[in-house]
Amino acid sequence: MTNPIVERYIAENPAAKKLFARALDLFPGGITHDVRQQEPFPFYIVRAMGAHKWDTDGHELIDCAMGHGAMILGHGNPAVVEAVCRQMRDGTHHSASHPLEMEWAERVQKLIPSAELVRFVASGTEATMMAIRLARAFKKRDHIALIDAHFHGWSDYASVGWVRPAANQLPGIPQAVRDTMHPVPQDLNAVEAVLKRGDIAGLIVEPTGPSWSKIPMPEGFLQGLRKLTTKYGVLLIFDEVISGFRWSPGGIQGIVGIKPDLTTLAKILAGGLPGGAVVGRRDVMELLRFKDPKWNIEQKVLHNGTFNANPLAAAAGIACLDQLADGRVQKLVDRQTAKLRQGFNQVLGRLKIEGCAWGESSVFHLILGVPVPARGDGDLRDPKLSPEVLSKGSAPLIHQAFHLAMWHEGVHIFHSGGLLSTAHDDNVIAKTLSAFERALVTMQECKLL
Ligand code: PMP
Repeated sequence: MTNPIVERYIAENPAAKKLFARALDLFPGGITHDVRQQEPFPFYIVRAMGAHKWDTDGHELIDCAMGHGAMILGHGNPAVVEAVCRQMRDGTHHSASHPLEMEWAERVQKLIPSAELVRFVASGTEATMMAIRLARAFKKRDHIALIDAHFHGWSDYASVGWVRPAANQLPGIPQAVRDTMHPVPQDLNAVEAVLKRGDIAGLIVEPTGPSWSKIPMPEGFLQGLRKLTTKYGVLLIFDEVISGFRWSPGGIQGIVGIKPDLTTLAKILAGGLPGGAVVGRRDVMELLRFKDPKWNIEQKVLHNGTFNANPLAAAAGIACLDQLADGRVQKLVDRQTAKLRQGFNQVLGRLKIEGCAWGESSVFHLILGVPVPARGDGDLRDPKLSPEVLSKGSAPLIHQAFHLAMWHEGVHIFHSGGLLSTAHDDNVIAKTLSAFERALVTMQECKLL
């Protein structure tokens, strides 16, 4: 596809174009994460600070991706940088237990209401894999329920819910794995129907609704899940990889007052470094401990991992969680993001463009070129569009042009939305809104909207 927006991108990014040619000989498709797939080619970042980052072609960008949600304190938070530098000098891997892992876990235990015990892993994907394994071992059942389109990382198991498999989809994922995973719509009757099977060990859910509240959770849904899982003797697993420490110091569970049996954490947990954790009920988590030889072989859940509780991640995580403990940061970032969502809707109204911005906490989503009767010109939690329409999002042509048009105006949009940080002050919000307005006008001039 080409249009003036794409042509401008090619013309203004000669260094990125060259790097991409090099990358094609190194990485499949030239990229290292599926989400970095971008036509005509990706951009390359060399430095990030606060709410900004800079690319190889000399552009300054307002960052709305913020480490895929990990950087709630902005890039280069002084306390985190200081803690990591200090730890670098004391060693980045001790091949042994270390005191910092306890300081890290104590903070997690204090903040996350259901965290009776903690086991660190190296990523969100590993955290959800371990939660699923623990549920299976605890219940001595093989089957797991999950909700359509909820994202839990890229493991064989989690992929089955993210992309509900047709016979010819999900290459590389064995049928035997698919047969144990049961995706159902975000609907309590559908959940009950699958739990009634009697062989489900656990139900895993993104408690924000899929992709950080892109499809808002119906009121009472989480309470319904807690009731149903208790009734059918199934472990409830909250995947709080995004919402943990962001929605509140205690994640979503800290707001809705529901205790899941297990919770998965990553991203903010490790202060912008790689890290994750499974936390939860003592009796379930105790399956990871060593006891007598018979137990160790027959009951203990296996778990290794070279970078579990890595000292650098621990240092960053502690420095980060200390700044998030009293909830002031979350309230501040929530307020800034609400201003942005409201501002987006006002711009759309002014330019008479169909679509809307919505979201919760400190995240936003955008859909363009789709009528939204519920929009208004304020902040919006739920656009009241069908899950199918919300999942699909803007038409592909509009989606691509919007990302590039925003990029030309100096804003990196993430998945048609973003996750903000403390560095997104009023000045950054105002700049993002005027960038949005200019990007939409350009798209109108190109007859894309
Ligand atoms: N669960 C959720 C809810 C996520 O958003 C993500 C990552 N975006 C993951 C799990 C996987 O985490 P990671 O990328 O660290 O493996």
